[in-house]
Amino acid sequence: MADRLARALGHGGTVRALAAVTTDLVEEARRRHDTAPTATAALGRALTGALLLASTIKRDERLSLEFSGDGPLRGVLVDATPDGKLDVGGALGRGVLCVMRVPITAGTLYRSVVPLESGEIGADLAGYLLKSEQAPAAVGVGVFVAVDGQVVAAGGYLVQALPGASERALDTIAERVEHLASPSQLVREGLSPSDILRRLVGDDLSLLEEHDVRFRCRCSRERVAVAILAMGRQEIESVLADDRRAEVTCEFCTQRYLLEEDELRSLL
Ligand SMILES: [Zn+2]
Repeated sequence: MADRLARALGHGGTVRALAAVTTDLVEEARRRHDTAPTATAALGRALTGALLLASTIKRDERLSLEFSGDGPLRGVLVDATPDGKLDVGGALGRGVLCVMRVPITAGTLYRSVVPLESGEIGADLAGYLLKSEQAPAAVGVGVFVAVDGQVVAAGGYLVQALPGASERALDTIAERVEHLASPSQLVREGLSPSDILRRLVGDDLSLLEEHDVRFRCRCSRERVAVAILAMGRQEIESVLADDRRAEVTCEFCTQRYLLEEDELRSLL
């Protein structure tokens, strides 16, 4: 099944629900970063969570999630846009989740930092939503990695109470969430995002949209040139004198860019 994301409203429009199947894009991230199974699971959960959260923000914003802990993995940094594209990279820090909403063109940057609830990512994102938006939410994200390290199934869901949600609706959903199989199990069973939403919310569900999602990086030759320019004339001249070329690797997607002598000279 191709990677997809579905958005819906439930219980008469008082509950927001999103679900995503992300197997292919998590596998692509694993391949690019050559991650070990535990890191693959963390990266895949963070990617899926970012994608779900990005789908709840304005279309002219980009969402950046940074999980930092003091465990061996240290940190995960992921970016997502509401139209379903993702970037990933490694980062480091200690015991916090930093959420940034970055305007794509002009506007205000929102940044909030909350302590990690569990480091399991799903619960951490639900904790962030409760603190930042005062809205109870449940977030489930999961990745199933095969013995050979490949990603077999990945996906997740997000349910959030909107103004006017009744206690009864929230109780019903909490009960359904509790009895639901893990997101990676649901994906392994072949459920689509809208199937997952039906399991989560029940029959009182109106599907808003379902669309493809994919891995894509914002890096480009032009952005690499801008980064090299930012190093300054002296630094560029010293690279020219020493190596005659510059090799730059994008930390988000591992794409390598090689700038030869004539390109570097044209920057000067
Ligand atoms: Zn890149």
